[in-house]
Amino acid sequence: MAFTNEVIEEIIASAEERACCERAEFAAFVHFSGYLRIGHDQPTLVLRVTRPVSARRAVALARRVLGLEVGPITRYESAFEKWYEVELYADDLLAKLSHIGIAGVVTPTEESLSRDLLKSKCCRQGYLRGLFLSTGYILKPEKGRNVEFHLNSEEAAREASRLLKKFGLTPHETKRRHRYIVYLKSYDDVKALLYNLGAKSAHFAFEDIQVVREIKNTVNRLVNSELANLQKTARSAARQLRAIDTIEKTIGLDALPPALREMALLRREHPDATFDELAELLGGGHTKSAVSHRIRRLEKIASELGDRH
Ligand SMILES: [Zn+2]
Repeated sequence: MAFTNEVIEEIIASAEERACCERAEFAAFVHFSGYLRIGHDQPTLVLRVTRPVSARRAVALARRVLGLEVGPITRYESAFEKWYEVELYADDLLAKLSHIGIAGVVTPTEESLSRDLLKSKCCRQGYLRGLFLSTGYILKPEKGRNVEFHLNSEEAAREASRLLKKFGLTPHETKRRHRYIVYLKSYDDVKALLYNLGAKSAHFAFEDIQVVREIKNTVNRLVNSELANLQKTARSAARQLRAIDTIEKTIGLDALPPALREMALLRREHPDATFDELAELLGGGHTKSAVSHRIRRLEKIASELGDRH
C-alpha cells in the first residue's frame, strides 16, 4: 500500500499538464471509479477511489477540466476494504461530461468515449494514468511482480484489459469477492506499465530486481547441476567401493588380473577421484576410458560373485 502511494506520487509529479491529457485522465476517473447519484433535482457525480492522494488528484482535475464544484472527501470502510468518495456537482453536469467526450458514465465502453479523447499517445497515457490512479495497486518489487486494478463491474474490467492490451501488455482477469480484478504478472509488463505511467524510478526499481533475480536463478541452476554431478559421482564411487569389498571378501584381490587389482587398490586409495584423475594417477598414458573399462569389469566380477554368495 505504501509503495502504491509512492508510485502514485511519482506519476502525478511527472504527469503531462496539457489540457488534452488531463481531460483523458479525468475521463478514466469517471469511467473506472465514477457513478451518478440521482438526487432531488440534479444528479451528482461520485468518484470512488482507494486512496486520499487519488481523491485529491480527482478533485484537482474536476476543477481544472470541467470547472465542477467539489464536495468534501469522505472515507468509508467495510470489513474488506477502505475507500474514499468525492462528490462533484454542476448545474449542467451531464452536458459537461458529454462535452468532454464522456457519454456513458456507469459502464465504460469504447463507444462511450469520443474518438478525439484517445487520439494521441499522450492522451492514451493520460487515460491509463487515470485508470491506475483510481483503481490500481502495485506490490513492492521485492514482493513479486504484481499490479492489480480493482474494478466495480465486468464491463469496466473488460475495458481496462482492452486499454492495457493497446500498450502491448498481457492482462489477466479474475474475480475476488464482489470486485473484478485485472492484473499483470510479468516483470516486463509491470516495467512497461510504469514506463507509460511516467513512474521512472519505480520502473528502474523493478529492472534492478529483475536483473538480481535472473542472476540468482542462473547461479542456483549452476549450483544445483554441480551438486547433482557431485552426488552422482559420490554414488558411483560408493558402488565401486562396495564391489571391490565383495571381491576381497570372496576370492581376494590377489585373484584379479594385475591391471584390475591395481585399479581396485587405486580406487580404494582415492575414493573421491574422478575417472580423469584416476587415469592420471595410473600414469603410463592411460585414458579415462581405460579407467572406465576396468572399473566396469570390477563391478561385473563383483556382481557375479555377489550372485553366487
Ligand atoms: Zn494529450
